[in-house]
Amino acid sequence: MRIGNRLDEYVASREPETRSALLLTESARRLKIPKEALEEIVKPYTVYIQRLPVGMLGAVVNVMSGIVLHNRARGPYKGGIRIAPDVDLWETTELARLMTIKTALADIELGGGKSGISIDLRRLYTHMSREGRFNGAYREFERIAKGDVMEEFTDHFGWLFREHVYIPAPDMGTGGAEMVRIYNALRDPAAVTGKPDGIEGWLPGRKEATGYGVYYAILKDMQKKGTAPQDCTIALQGFGKVGAHAAQFLHDHGAKVVAVTDVSGGAHDPAGLDIPRLRAHVTAKGGLKGARAKSITNEELFRLKTDYLIPAARGHAIDKTNAKSVRAGVVVEAANMPVTYDAMRIMEGRGIEILPDAYANAGGVIASSLEYRQALGGVKFTKDMTFAHIRERFDDMHEQIAARMKRRRTMVEASMDVALGRIYETMLSRSLL
Ligand code: NAD
Repeated sequence: MRIGNRLDEYVASREPETRSALLLTESARRLKIPKEALEEIVKPYTVYIQRLPVGMLGAVVNVMSGIVLHNRARGPYKGGIRIAPDVDLWETTELARLMTIKTALADIELGGGKSGISIDLRRLYTHMSREGRFNGAYREFERIAKGDVMEEFTDHFGWLFREHVYIPAPDMGTGGAEMVRIYNALRDPAAVTGKPDGIEGWLPGRKEATGYGVYYAILKDMQKKGTAPQDCTIALQGFGKVGAHAAQFLHDHGAKVVAVTDVSGGAHDPAGLDIPRLRAHVTAKGGLKGARAKSITNEELFRLKTDYLIPAARGHAIDKTNAKSVRAGVVVEAANMPVTYDAMRIMEGRGIEILPDAYANAGGVIASSLEYRQALGGVKFTKDMTFAHIRERFDDMHEQIAARMKRRRTMVEASMDVALGRIYETMLSRSLL
C-alpha cells in the first residue's frame, strides 16, 4: 500500500528552480557578491535521508524522512519538522534555506535547517481501519501514529538534537505533542523548541508567537499607512497554529476578519467573523466545516477585496493561475512561500504589496531562539517578555528593511538584501568562503 513518497520520489533527481534561490541570486547581483560565494550560500551543507520502519498497531509502516541542514554560519541549524503526504527532499531543502534567510533577517543567533516526513495519515487510517487494526476516530489514530513516527525519527536523529547541531520545532502537521516525544527521549530542554506548557524549558507565549508576529507585522504596516485595525478588513487562508492565533490577535485589536478557510471548509461574513466562536468550533469538530457562517472556498477568498490577505496554510497557494484575481491591498506571507516567484512578479506589477515570509512569520523562530537560550541559561521568561522580544526584533527588521526600501527596493528585495548581506559577512569572517 502507498502511504507516501518512495525513495526515488523523495530524492527527485535535481533541485528545481526555487523561489529562494532566484531571489538570492538577484540579491547577490545587487550586493555584488561573487557567483562562487553565492553558490556556497544557496546549497545546503548536509542532507540526511532516512527510511523509518515505524512499528504501529502491530504492523511495520515504512516512512520516508529527511533532514536538510542548510547553513549554520550564524548559529545552530534551526527549523521545524513537517509531516505531510507530499513532502520531498527539495521542498525540505527550500524550507531549510528559507530558515537561514529568516534567522539572518531577524538577526538571531541561529542558522537554517528543516525536517520533512512523508506520510499520508488519512490513507493509512482507512487501511488500518479496514484491516481491523484500529476502530476509533481519525484524530485518535493521528495522535498515536504521529507519536510512533516521532519515536522512530528521534531514534535515528536524536544525536543531532542532543548535540544541539540541529534544533527542531513544530511545523505543518506537528505541534507540542510531537515535540514532547523528542523531549521524553532525550530529557534535554534545549534539544527541541515549541515544547508545550509545563514541559521543562517551555516558553510562555511560544505557541502564539508566529501568529503574534504576523499580527504585529500587519500593525506596523497599518501604522506606516496611517490606518488603524478598526478600518481594516482581513481574509485568511489556514486556521491552524499560525492562522488561528493571527486571526485572534487581529480580532482582539479591532480588525475585521471577514473570511477564513481551512482544509475542511471556510467561513465568510463581510461584517466580521466571531473568531473565538470559530476557534471553539475547530477545537470541538477538528475543522471549520459546519461552522455557523456563510461558507467560502479558497479561490473565492483570494478574490475578496480586503486590505490584507494572509495565506497561512501551504506553500504555492497563490501562483500565476490565480495571482491575477487577487484583489487585496497587501499579501502577508504567514505561511512559508505561499506565493510563487511568478505570482510575486504579477502581483507587484499590479501594485499589490507583499510582506515576505522571512519577515512576516519570523515570530515563531524569534520565540524559539528565546526558548533555546532560556533552556541553556536556566532563566524563565514571561509571556510579556516573549512578546516584547518579538516586537523588538520586528521593529529592528522593519528599520533595516525600510532603509533599503529608500533605494527603490520592494519589501521582498530589501529583506533578502539585509539577510544575504549578513550571511555573507559572517561566512567571510568565519573563513567559510
Ligand atoms: P498547521 O498544520 O497547524 O495548520 C495548517 C492549516 O492550514 C490548517 O488549518 C489546515 O486545515 C489548513 N490548510 C491546509 N491545506 C489547506 C488548503 N488547501 N486550503 C485551506 N487551508 C488549508 O500548520 P501551521 O503550523 O499553522 O503552519 C502553517 C504555515 O505556516 C506553514 O507554511 C508553515 O511552514 C508556516 N510556519 C509555521 C510556523 C509555526 O510556528 N508553526 C512558523 C513559521 C511558518
